[in-house]
Amino acid sequence: MTSRLQITTPEPLPEETGADQALRPGRLEEFVGQAQVKTSLRIAIDAAKHRKEPLDHLLFFGPPGLGKTTLAMLLAREMGVTLRTTSGPVLEKPGDLVSMLTTLAPGDILFIDEIHRLRPVLEEFLYPAMEDYRVDVRLADGPNAQTITMPIERFTLIGATTRFGLLTPPMRARFGMVERLHFYPPEDLEQIIVRSARLLNVPADAEGTLEIARRSRGTPRVANRLLRRVRDYAQVKAEGRITGPVARDALARLNVDEFGLDDMDARLLTTIIEKFGGGPVGLNTVAVAIGEDAATIEEVYEPYLIQQGFLERTPRGRVATPHAYRRFGVTPPAGAQGSIF
Ligand code: ADP
Repeated sequence: MTSRLQITTPEPLPEETGADQALRPGRLEEFVGQAQVKTSLRIAIDAAKHRKEPLDHLLFFGPPGLGKTTLAMLLAREMGVTLRTTSGPVLEKPGDLVSMLTTLAPGDILFIDEIHRLRPVLEEFLYPAMEDYRVDVRLADGPNAQTITMPIERFTLIGATTRFGLLTPPMRARFGMVERLHFYPPEDLEQIIVRSARLLNVPADAEGTLEIARRSRGTPRVANRLLRRVRDYAQVKAEGRITGPVARDALARLNVDEFGLDDMDARLLTTIIEKFGGGPVGLNTVAVAIGEDAATIEEVYEPYLIQQGFLERTPRGRVATPHAYRRFGVTPPAGAQGSIF
């Protein structure tokens, strides 16, 4: 099942690759927020440089669009090394990694996005590469095929995942650093929007940028996308200037509400409220009811709804909170089953 593309999805939309690149911070100092993560990275960079060694293998985890890929790029730049990028789902067999690993220069970074989706055979192939800097290459298929061991340069593996829980324990154990990214508060998003507006050459006042920030689901990728859409609207309707009323009008037209919720969030929450008495209801049941992939709901939509207090995950299933009832103007039923009533 493919997910419908929503204006506030934290995942990149197909047309966005170039636009995303243009707005990516070029130096760690330009990377807004995530102070703790930045401090640990700064220390790791300085220590590695001092020892003239590669960075430790590092894992970033957190919802999509929060800056995992950007940080990997910034680390490569700070260390003055090359970044090679791939992702768990596109790698099929060890051979797909051999040429990447054997051509790495000392200290280079291999970035594997969605590392929780790496196939087990590839994980096992990576262990000796990460630990002993060697790869075991089979020369042919079949039971009698010879295996040769090839040394590789000392490199840094940076993994990114939206699902820390799905990473196998042996894989987790091989990362020297694990850094969790959190949703950004509106004031950080505002800074990101102000910077992006400057780069895009679009005038925006403080009320306008705050309005966009508040509706960006704590996610820089969404903030940049909403900024571009509001800019388009401002160009057509308001002589190019983003003000509070212009941002509110534009976002209302895009069906993004004041909490950053869009049609899909509304469907998810109203389905739980109206069809399942507010919950608890199992994830798969909700997925079927709204015609969306369960994994997408869990990885893409729920984290923000939970963080904002619209939804709870309980051992018995998903529960809509009183906050969700209020948002949709529904009175919670007297005998609601959820533990929170
Ligand atoms: P992820 O890999 O976590 O899905 P990305 O690193 O691709 O996210 O970030 C998505 C977009 O958001 C990038 O284009 C980048 O410009 C922007 N971005 C992310 N984090 C920040 C930040 N802290 N400061 C400024 N821009 C950011």
